[in-house]
Amino acid sequence: MEVYGWGRFPKASAELLEPVDSESLIKILTANKKIGPMIARGAGRSYGDSSLSANLISSRFLDSFLGLDEDAATIRCGAGVSLGSILKVCIPRGWFLPVLPGTKFVSVGGAIAADIHGKNHHLDGSFCEHVAEFTLLLASGEKVTCSAQQNTELFHATCGGMGLTGIILDATIKCERVSSVSIKQRSLVANTLSECFELLEANTDSKYSVAWLDCLAGGNKLGRSMIYLAQHDDNSDSIKEPKYKNRRRATVAFDMPAFLINKFTLGLFNDAYFNLKKKVHRESTVNYDTYFFPLDNIGNWNRLYGARGFLQYQFVLPLDTALEGISQVLFKVSGAGKGSFLSVLKKFGKANANLLSFPQPGYTLSLDFKREKSLFPLLDGLDEIVLAHGGKIYLAKDARMSESVFKAGYPEWEKFLETKLKVDPRGIFASLQSERIGLT
Ligand SMILES: Cc1cc2nc3c(=O)[nH]c(=O)nc-3n(C[C@H](O)[C@H](O)[C@H](O)COP(=O)(O)OP(=O)(O)OC[C@H]3O[C@@H](n4cnc5c(N)ncnc54)[C@H](O)[C@@H]3O)c2cc1C
Repeated sequence: MEVYGWGRFPKASAELLEPVDSESLIKILTANKKIGPMIARGAGRSYGDSSLSANLISSRFLDSFLGLDEDAATIRCGAGVSLGSILKVCIPRGWFLPVLPGTKFVSVGGAIAADIHGKNHHLDGSFCEHVAEFTLLLASGEKVTCSAQQNTELFHATCGGMGLTGIILDATIKCERVSSVSIKQRSLVANTLSECFELLEANTDSKYSVAWLDCLAGGNKLGRSMIYLAQHDDNSDSIKEPKYKNRRRATVAFDMPAFLINKFTLGLFNDAYFNLKKKVHRESTVNYDTYFFPLDNIGNWNRLYGARGFLQYQFVLPLDTALEGISQVLFKVSGAGKGSFLSVLKKFGKANANLLSFPQPGYTLSLDFKREKSLFPLLDGLDEIVLAHGGKIYLAKDARMSESVFKAGYPEWEKFLETKLKVDPRGIFASLQSERIGLT
């Protein structure tokens, strides 16, 4: 069958293996016949080719809740369970997931494999820092429990390891107790990139923060942005009786003609967005769903970029080079008239010990681009800026980075390979991405 990630590029032909339980999965792994390459497939929300391979192991069967500890506020569930389903169990108890990405349709296995981050990385770190333990199924068919204390080397290789060490079967996640799931939000306007940085630095005590940046604005508007600071409301009523109606879900039913996405239409959209947001109220209380997952309400929004698909380019730069490096990136993008609707800028806090995790202290920017031939030389140029400023590109979003760019950005790759070789000596677990970047 034809498979692809959220960006719908690249597309590959693969055999989808759908085991019904872990025993049948073990049989696939330990069968005498030559198998592989294969990779786990969660909800398919990574953008590029990290969950593409000749054989895909669907984690759909790992869909059960396995335990709940009321005192410790932990939840144990199968790796195929989505973060949205976990929230449904957490929220009535006054708990919340400590790290949330921009969509709730991500599986626990995918969240661990990419060690995902949210709008609170500067305070709370990334997803795997809240994982008490998980069970990993190795290529040998052996099941291993991994945590920061047990099988530590394998834990740090698997968290952020993009499915290359084995298949995560289940995980225990530490939840956070919150006063409310209503989110009190405050917006600020920044007219330039340096103003945006100043405002984010001045508000590092805000639980959640994110800036929506107009990547098409050049000249003296370069980096103009809206900053959203937020925290949980202190009114606990909204936990048990959320006052909000379910949002109505719209769906993009067909591929939009790609020519509609061009610098004029995008420029008009971004201008309209800024002018509107500047005028509307600066403080509001919104449902967590509206705050964290604004795009989830539009089914198949990835079709807006047309049948050729799109790429997301997300990179991080260290604190001391971020302003200069991001200015150079925006200058190049706005000069080329490419880029997309609003782009997202976030501040990262400390890095962790996971070998291939993306976050490091600094700033991360993500930009969407429709796929077209002339895009690839532009992105190669952005890679040069990112590396020259000591940064790296996020594997969960990547569809085209070269081996040399990957290895320059992820200095622990050799250590990662040493661990992988110990648990997967036949190199069964491999994706199109791992082959492209020289990890398999
Ligand atoms: C709209 C949108 C917003 C997003 N926002 C953010 C964000 O704010 N922050 C962020 O960090 N990411 C974000 N992402 C990216 C997303 O969180 C990651 O790509 C995540 O890995 C997707 O999980 P998935 O279940 O869809 O996994 P898939 O896309 O299916 O797979 C991703 C990787 O996980 C591996 N994997 C999946 N399941 C398992 C398993 N059981 N065992 C071992 N490996 C496994 C796969 O092999 C692959 O390497 C966003 C994505 C979208 C579409």
